[in-house]
Amino acid sequence: MRKTFIALSAALLASPALSDTLIDHANGVQADTAGNVTHFTGLLIDDDGKILRVLHGTEPRPKARAVVDAAGKTVLPGMIDGHGHVTDLGFYALRLNVTGSASLAELQQRLRDYAAAHPEVKWIQGGGWNQELWPSKKFPTAADLDAIVPDRPVVLERVDGHAIVANSAAMKAAGVTAATPAPHGGEIHDGVFVDAARGLIERAIPKPTEADLDQALAKAQEILLGYGVTGVGSMSTSVADWNAFRRAGEAGTLNVRLMSYLLGVESMKAMPHPTPWLYGDRLRAVGIKFFADGALGSRGAWLKQPYADKPDSRGLQFHSDAEILALTDQAAAAGFQIATHAIGDAANAQMISTYEQLHRKYPGDRRWRIEHFQVVDPVDIPRLAPAGIIASMQPTHQTSDRLMAEARLGTKRLAGAYAWQSVLKSGARLAFGTDFPVESPNPFPGLSAAISRQDVNGQPPGGWIPSERLTLGEALRAYTRGSAYAGFAENKIGALEPGKWADFIIVDRDPTKVDPQRLARTQALETWVAGKKVWSRAPNASASERGQ
Ligand SMILES: [Zn+2]
Repeated sequence: MRKTFIALSAALLASPALSDTLIDHANGVQADTAGNVTHFTGLLIDDDGKILRVLHGTEPRPKARAVVDAAGKTVLPGMIDGHGHVTDLGFYALRLNVTGSASLAELQQRLRDYAAAHPEVKWIQGGGWNQELWPSKKFPTAADLDAIVPDRPVVLERVDGHAIVANSAAMKAAGVTAATPAPHGGEIHDGVFVDAARGLIERAIPKPTEADLDQALAKAQEILLGYGVTGVGSMSTSVADWNAFRRAGEAGTLNVRLMSYLLGVESMKAMPHPTPWLYGDRLRAVGIKFFADGALGSRGAWLKQPYADKPDSRGLQFHSDAEILALTDQAAAAGFQIATHAIGDAANAQMISTYEQLHRKYPGDRRWRIEHFQVVDPVDIPRLAPAGIIASMQPTHQTSDRLMAEARLGTKRLAGAYAWQSVLKSGARLAFGTDFPVESPNPFPGLSAAISRQDVNGQPPGGWIPSERLTLGEALRAYTRGSAYAGFAENKIGALEPGKWADFIIVDRDPTKVDPQRLARTQALETWVAGKKVWSRAPNASASERGQ
């Protein structure tokens, strides 16, 4: 002990500039600003956790106090999910999960098992169902849930988060009857509450406690770091979420960097202006989130023309033009970035027009964001770049939604759907993410979809509208630099470069050397934030265990 101390002191005296950590023998892969793949073999990291030098080839290595031998493994920048719901991810993992149920009967079985295993849970909450995966294609009903759990409230959210199904006990607790009218912007049928109607049930659900939120945040971080995600555009952050983020920051347990977008102008009562970066660039309130419409699956997306499979409906317009302009202007005037959910082509056109007006009024670097930018009239895409609008998109939505989108839109309106390459070609900025927990936060199926327009099983052959494929470099850039830029963080994260944080991951394969299906099954082995290992895969975890 004593000997080591003396030797160490002598070494420090001999070379006072000795730096902290050298990551050596790395097969380093990242994307440059032009969307090309570049390579490196080592990283020199200072005491604060920032990168001092990026080393290439076999160039001479500087001396470092600690050397980590990556042993030829692939090192990537930490992935940044541009759009996710952090505490929701934790709650989803802790609540009843019916994702992937192949039938109503399977949903009912999972509900039966959960209810039996959790007699202490007073309100059974969960979600992930998607009736599009069921043979019947029919929405579940209150009676379907009553048949399993008649005595406790049950509320299960649809996979897209835009509809819930409630049992009779939940409706009774909420004071809702068959005669209750749906509010503007919502629909009710047989226990299913769509968009604005959800509030009728949700207002009766007991609010999560601080302890519940802390537990959910811890669970979410564990999941994210395990997938190699080191930064998130934290969407629809509530004030209670924000307070949980602050508690984790104060306690030193915040490892995922959160660029937070608080929900709606109501949040501005508690948060009148954006915050500076806190806790070593781990947390910032940067923007306000708005919604222009609903989702395509529940036919809440606001379309220019009627739905192909519901000709009397164009979906849900949430705000008049004057209203959305007034709301977003109020947040922009307070210095916030604006991020607005827009799925349908009418909602996207409305938001582009809104942002064009805001861009004239606030001509600086404001980075107006459209979240999802899912179904867009091709004539509107060239309007993004001149107004400084960022398309924040989720590649796995394309692979999940493909057949549903064809049903909702017909084949003639797909030209501007999930149109990543058209966005890049128009000169606009692209940020990638998953909208977790709507999709898994695993970034690798998204990178795979981005370059192939195929799902993890290689469907459809040749890719869906393959002209919208990206190169691997373009996809990686959108998932790192693009998402960092979208959160005003490109000088801190998103690339492994001198002066930026040493947020990186070691993965089990080289994305430049595998086909898209194998890329989708990439697994993180270690996740590092600010030069410190914050997660590593348990040695006995099988290589294919979580590859889906
Ligand atoms: Zn979302």
